[in-house]
Amino acid sequence: MLRALLLLIALSTSLLAVPNIVIIYADDLGYGDLGCYGHPTIRTPNLDRMAAEGMRFTQFYSAAEVCTPSRAALLTGRYPVRSGMCHDQIRVLRNNSVGGLPQDEVTLAELLKAQGYRTACIGKWHLGVWANDPRHQPVNHGFDFQFGLPHSNDMNPNPGNPKRANALADQKAEYWNSPLYRGMELVERPADQTTLTRRYTEEAVKFITLDKSKPFFLYFPHTFPHTPLFASKNFKGRSPRGLYGDVVEELDWSVGRVIETLRENGLAENTVVVFSSDNGPWLTMGETGGSAGLLREGKGSTWEGGMRVPGIVWWPGRIKPSVCRDVACTMDLFVTFAKLGGAAAPQDRDIDGMDISPLLFGSGRVERSVFCYYRGQRLYAARVGPWKAHFITQPSYGPEKPAVHAVPMLYNIEEDPSESRDVAGQHPDIISRIQSAVEKHRATVKEVPSQLVGTDEVR
Ligand code: MG
Repeated sequence: MLRALLLLIALSTSLLAVPNIVIIYADDLGYGDLGCYGHPTIRTPNLDRMAAEGMRFTQFYSAAEVCTPSRAALLTGRYPVRSGMCHDQIRVLRNNSVGGLPQDEVTLAELLKAQGYRTACIGKWHLGVWANDPRHQPVNHGFDFQFGLPHSNDMNPNPGNPKRANALADQKAEYWNSPLYRGMELVERPADQTTLTRRYTEEAVKFITLDKSKPFFLYFPHTFPHTPLFASKNFKGRSPRGLYGDVVEELDWSVGRVIETLRENGLAENTVVVFSSDNGPWLTMGETGGSAGLLREGKGSTWEGGMRVPGIVWWPGRIKPSVCRDVACTMDLFVTFAKLGGAAAPQDRDIDGMDISPLLFGSGRVERSVFCYYRGQRLYAARVGPWKAHFITQPSYGPEKPAVHAVPMLYNIEEDPSESRDVAGQHPDIISRIQSAVEKHRATVKEVPSQLVGTDEVR
């Protein structure tokens, strides 16, 4: 009788236990860059296995087209226009920026920490440079521990770095002077970028195994495959896809190490792991940029290739091996994981993410009224069901001005994922349906000052 009771108590506490949460976030990895998303030559056996054992989304979105706003959205569950973490021309924070994620934004790390989670940010932050304002350190946004770069790996060119495009093509270590930090402590400058993926991974493994008495949240935003590209000796020169492939294959190794660590420590059944990317591939970088597969355009644009990214969620025993073709986005992770961790999303502000537990656990669908595609502070496009209307279009980079369409372009992106056949003429009713969904969304968006203003390099 006593044994039965004890067993029951043990069972109920394990059922009540909140899961560990790991978000692995690649930088500029395209929709078409993994084996399990159809890349013919980049080998990603660990991610392929993670996808085969978990849920692979085919219509998973980042909430922005470039680095800074996409990270703000992931960690706050809100379109970046609400937090001021975007700007039409400046686009991302740079090494001389003084702005950053406002202190009154509530991050997923803060919510989980309040529930007793250990929290860490390992990798690239890009939500404020703490050398310019210490409030931007991740430790002031809910993370107990931080290791990594404050921003992108191309933001501290050395004197003698030739024109940006050439430097990126050459991928020479001496062109760059990125600082590597552990909290406020400068660990190394210039960071040896060939070691970053390996060292991030070692820190992640250490963090996971540090203390089993508490649940943990590991936010693991990698520096790569953002250019300039660097791979370690073990990976350099191995991929038929060239240096870009080497770098992605090393990221895949890193994912394998994280999952292996969870398995070895008996944590796999109580840990949910997500793999995604902050935006599409940087196509203007030529062979050192990735691929969006069959999707149109890439990083920096509101065509599908700019914002639809790989999305894999793994939780053995809880999430069934499957492919999910429903729409989901990074902002949903905020809401869903807050809830799984026993917290509630803040009630005093608009949250744009949705609880996707019904998709993850196979219990139902999620009714999403609209998904908006912002470029900076301007809404360029919106999706309702399979239909996507482009109100404004613009090439991802370059001097071309935005083209505002009096009649929006319209695509059925489930029939036509490459956005190649504009069917606006045949469906005025659908366009007005999307327009009214957008109007409803706009009514909730208050104008806030951009945190990116004051950055002197505009591109
Ligand atoms: Mg990026």
